[in-house]
Amino acid sequence: MRILVIEDEARLAQTLAELLHRQGYTADISGDGLSGLDNAASDIYDLVVLDAMLPGMDGFTLLQRLRQEGHTVPVLMLTARSGVEDRVRGLDSGADYYLTKPFGTDELLARVRTAIRHTRTATGNSEIAQQGTYTVGDLTIDYNKHQVLVRGENAKLTLSEFRIVALLGKHAGRVMTYDSIIKELWGPRASGDNQILRVNMANIRRKIEKNPAEPEYLFTEVGVGYRMAESEN
Ligand code: CA
Repeated sequence: MRILVIEDEARLAQTLAELLHRQGYTADISGDGLSGLDNAASDIYDLVVLDAMLPGMDGFTLLQRLRQEGHTVPVLMLTARSGVEDRVRGLDSGADYYLTKPFGTDELLARVRTAIRHTRTATGNSEIAQQGTYTVGDLTIDYNKHQVLVRGENAKLTLSEFRIVALLGKHAGRVMTYDSIIKELWGPRASGDNQILRVNMANIRRKIEKNPAEPEYLFTEVGVGYRMAESEN
């Protein structure tokens, strides 16, 4: 597993690379946006850890270029603690995961493991086309029957509700922005109105969560989007 770290703060980049080495990953460093884009576009990496603030070309622009050129390498974006907008911007630019600075070693490694596991198990592109099941705790998404089961009982979701859960289940463990969910489910020209999504989510939680106010399966990342709990196995 080969990881590219794009980070201009030399000490932090070095620390990250050493940490990844110790976990058995190969880690390379790019110290600015332009060389970072070149290296990320080489398609030899299993994961790119990308800082938002870079000289030459910032991380958001780099990521947009990378995605426009059709490179699908998973990207873990590092953003500033204060900026919810940065997180949204990062995810909407095509980041798969984000981590806010400052972060702990454990947090980083957990995020890296999640990213790499998803790379290994990645399947088709359409959430509805996914086959089989996804289970976390007492919840099972049955992609063949288009059903969500809670403790073996059909939760009787509407089609819209099922599609939301199916999509989040496919990306379990990572945050999807409101905008990316809306665009994925209702098309690229769908408006950025979150209200329909919120209403659907409230209904879904009522059907699948023991206590909708303290969800176990579908989490809200305030101001950013939603995340499905990740299965332990
Ligand atoms: Ca930086």
